[in-house]
Amino acid sequence: MTTGLVGSEWIWKDGEIIPWSEAKVHILSLAVQFGSSVFEGMRCYSTPAGPAVFRLHDHLRRLRDSCRIYRIELALPQEELAAACAEIIARNGLDSCYVRPMVLRGYGSAGMNPIDSPVETYICAWPWGTYLGEGALEAGVDVCVSSWQRPEPNTFPALAKGAGHYNNAQLIKMEAAVNGYAEAIALAPNGLVSEGSGQNLFLVRDGVVITPVIDGTLLAGITRDSILKIARELGVPTCEQPVAREMLYTADEVFFTGTAAEVTPVRSVDRIPIGSGGMGPITRQLQKRFMQIVHGEVEDTRGWLSLVREPAAAARG
Ligand code: PMP
Repeated sequence: MTTGLVGSEWIWKDGEIIPWSEAKVHILSLAVQFGSSVFEGMRCYSTPAGPAVFRLHDHLRRLRDSCRIYRIELALPQEELAAACAEIIARNGLDSCYVRPMVLRGYGSAGMNPIDSPVETYICAWPWGTYLGEGALEAGVDVCVSSWQRPEPNTFPALAKGAGHYNNAQLIKMEAAVNGYAEAIALAPNGLVSEGSGQNLFLVRDGVVITPVIDGTLLAGITRDSILKIARELGVPTCEQPVAREMLYTADEVFFTGTAAEVTPVRSVDRIPIGSGGMGPITRQLQKRFMQIVHGEVEDTRGWLSLVREPAAAARG
């Protein structure tokens, strides 16, 4: 295979652009052996001003935080990484796409201390549609509570987006899939609600938008943060609080947030319908506003959109 996932041919690697088929790592790289890698996932949207990455700098900041937690030296300054993300999107001729920066420990040392292994940075981008299935953004998804829990705080650092953590996410996702659910909600070790395999979770009760607190078991999602800010701007009360499992069943509305999932309504949990079983009015309002913002249909008052091409360059073609 010479080209990559449909519509993407090039990958950025440590300052160079390489063909998709040449982006390889050694079998004994620590990323392969032990999951020693951190990554990000962002979306670039088509906007009237051209393709724009949503909250690029916040994602890169989280990437830097993940590196710091895992003692990975990320040599590149933020601005260069941001430029590299824009470069790989433009080079692949992409408009709306998913962007995946990865910082990994390569082939070097073989033991448990990874410090002597070289650090490699890659940025990939490819077109990616609705994450939780065709129609999910409107119809919502059926989910279950997973029998797999999220790791205990101070085991896998949940605020880092570490590749190895996603073995837990895959157990959650696979169990849901084999049982016929689109997704699952994982509980924290204390039995309270944590998050989905790759999304944060919200519920609405009596007009209040509620999401679990950042408690060391879940990722501080950038979409989660966006939705909290959008809700407040729309005058919808919000609350970050501990969430008991049964609050899911009695909620008026439940929805997931994430870069891939965007704002996806949940229509049932463990086959118990949520509210009226479709997208609730507050979810609809938040989803609509989120989509308007990411697509540049309303003024970007917070500077959340980073254009892939500078306006002057875009005008010159
Ligand atoms: N939780 C987990 C475990 C995730 O992998 C993601 C996706 N990055 C999220 C939550 C949502 O985060 P964000 O909104 O920043 O994409």
